[in-house]
Amino acid sequence: MAGPKPLWVDSHCHLFAAEGNTDEVLRRAHDAGVAWVMCPGIDLETSLQARRLSLEHRDMVMWAAGLHPHDAVRWSDEEARLTALIAEADAIGECGLDYYRDLSPRPLQREVFRRQLQLAGDLDKPIIVHCRDAFADVYEDVAAADLGERVVLHSWTGGPKWTKRFDALGVTFSFAGMVTYPTAETVRLAVAVAPPQRSMVETDTPYLSPQPHRSSANEPAFVPITGAQVAEIWDLDLAETARLTAATAQRVFRFGGV
Ligand SMILES: [Zn+2]
Repeated sequence: MAGPKPLWVDSHCHLFAAEGNTDEVLRRAHDAGVAWVMCPGIDLETSLQARRLSLEHRDMVMWAAGLHPHDAVRWSDEEARLTALIAEADAIGECGLDYYRDLSPRPLQREVFRRQLQLAGDLDKPIIVHCRDAFADVYEDVAAADLGERVVLHSWTGGPKWTKRFDALGVTFSFAGMVTYPTAETVRLAVAVAPPQRSMVETDTPYLSPQPHRSSANEPAFVPITGAQVAEIWDLDLAETARLTAATAQRVFRFGGV
């Protein structure tokens, strides 16, 4: 028997970079069963854009301010204004470490990541973490920060070993469209050991479109596709998977201030 349509949350959506008109993107998301989205910035300018979108669409959009590891070199220029913005934001991010592309020097990436973790602790805010080929260092810094589920490991690609180690810290996992890619077996193995009560799904719009939309820009309306794949791995039905992942997003990001 068909119950009410499952309601999803897109826990990571760069709405300012989505293709097309924001109202239409959000309407398509709503029609696909997406209740709300979290929109993280990647630097000062995009954090301001995320803030503006959230103010315009408060019924559906939360926002985060932070500096991405690719742009860690800009911390000294943007620190004062970003810190002020972070104090106002729903969450911090995205930030983290990226040793795959190495676009900023690693010691600087690390320092900037630690500063944002410190702010998360001081301000009691969730923090959205990007981790690419930097598992050991992210682990060390996240463990030291001791923020539990307020740390969100976004677009998580760690295999089962790292997933279990991070799980023991009580962090929150967020899985993106890669989980639908035939070659992404590692991500599916991570989903299999991740706790359904502490996991979310995301699009990472406009990147990482799930199958069969890989040739087009991603948008929040596609998050139920990733949710369906995750449900299959967990052997849960769609409604239960939507309920669990949305409840985690609600708990971590406190949409609507509740
Ligand atoms: Zn992102």
